[in-house]
Amino acid sequence: MEKYQIIPRKFRPKRFAEVAGHEAIVITLKNAIANEQLGQAYLFCGARGCGKTTLARLFAKALNCTHLSKDHEPCNKCISCQEISEGRSLDIMEIDGASNRGIDDIRQINETVGYAPNKGHYKIYIIDEVHMLTKEAFNALLKTLEEPPKNVKFFFATTEPHKIPQTIISRCQRFNLSRIPEKALVEKLTRICTELEVQAEKDALIQISHLSEGSLRDAESLLDQLICFGKTPITLDLTREIFGLLKTDQLFALDEAIHTQNQEKAFELAKQFYESGRDIGACIDSLLEHFRTYLLIHLGHPAEGAYEKKTKNYTKEQCLTLLDTLIQWQQQMSKTPFKRIHLEMLLATLVRKSQNISLDHLISRLLELEGKGEGEAPPPPPPKQEIPAPEPIKEEIHIKETKEPPKNDVHPSKYDTLIRFAAVELEGSVNQGN
Ligand SMILES: [Zn+2]
Repeated sequence: MEKYQIIPRKFRPKRFAEVAGHEAIVITLKNAIANEQLGQAYLFCGARGCGKTTLARLFAKALNCTHLSKDHEPCNKCISCQEISEGRSLDIMEIDGASNRGIDDIRQINETVGYAPNKGHYKIYIIDEVHMLTKEAFNALLKTLEEPPKNVKFFFATTEPHKIPQTIISRCQRFNLSRIPEKALVEKLTRICTELEVQAEKDALIQISHLSEGSLRDAESLLDQLICFGKTPITLDLTREIFGLLKTDQLFALDEAIHTQNQEKAFELAKQFYESGRDIGACIDSLLEHFRTYLLIHLGHPAEGAYEKKTKNYTKEQCLTLLDTLIQWQQQMSKTPFKRIHLEMLLATLVRKSQNISLDHLISRLLELEGKGEGEAPPPPPPKQEIPAPEPIKEEIHIKETKEPPKNDVHPSKYDTLIRFAAVELEGSVNQGN
């Protein structure tokens, strides 16, 4: 039986061209190789799973490759490349900073830097999670880092660069790796599925990329888990079910209950979710993503599927109110032992708030009406030529007419009072529907 390799290891990039995202950093590293302008130390900073150690290993491989391609990609065939790929190169020392953090560990490095590389051009120390080193260890490293032997390079990787002393950072070329964009993640997942001959819906891969929050390693591990489940094709609903999220039909059922202000239905759905044993936090995540999609459509993003028709059920302000409510409840939910009651109350709150109009919106709407009212309010004065001749009785009537205010002429200050009255009295909860 062939030894099984997990996806993050099996599909680890072997060439710079296979790296997802980080184009500018790849160009800089290639240029450094092409122009032979190498620094003595490099610091790769970024969130978990965004490719810090992958880039460090690739750079190390390219520096020691004996048959570098014209575009400065490692050949992956020479002895050095093969040894590095299999993790048995004597020239590349990978050190875990979290478990080798003391001064003695760094002294060992200092003692070995003087020895020439075994086979390659360079001896390279890759220290992962370098921020975990102690202050004394950093001090011990400082001198070596300042003037290392010509053929020695240090590559550091960290998720928390602010914990590294400035004296160390100033001796490194620093690269800040961003989270990998959704598009690049989906492309990589699609490539993996094609290579493994696994059928997967694009929406399912997009859902995985949302869950992984820009971490390629997380995305690959989630895909691995789905493939191991053994059900193909991998659909959006399957993905949501495996990771405890709400399925599309459940989301829209809940949406319908919220939109139509059907408390009874909302409570029934809360009961269903709770009894299905789902993680309540994942339910809230699903709802957050659902209303975020509506908001994005309001902000000009293209609408797809059922969202196209249903977006009109909520205004932008209502989406923001619902998202705000969900975020607040999400924080409370993690602390409470009474998950069921909290879920029911959350859904009841969503139903109540779904048709709320914000105070800002209310005031701006009233101001709009005021603008129209002012325009229409004063009735047009009768044309001068039509004023009847100054006969005594008619003049009396005319005087009477001018004394009485016209019906629509409400003074602006009265509108102001009206707005204030509406704002205070209604407290921003005017129901549009009922
Ligand atoms: Zn090579």
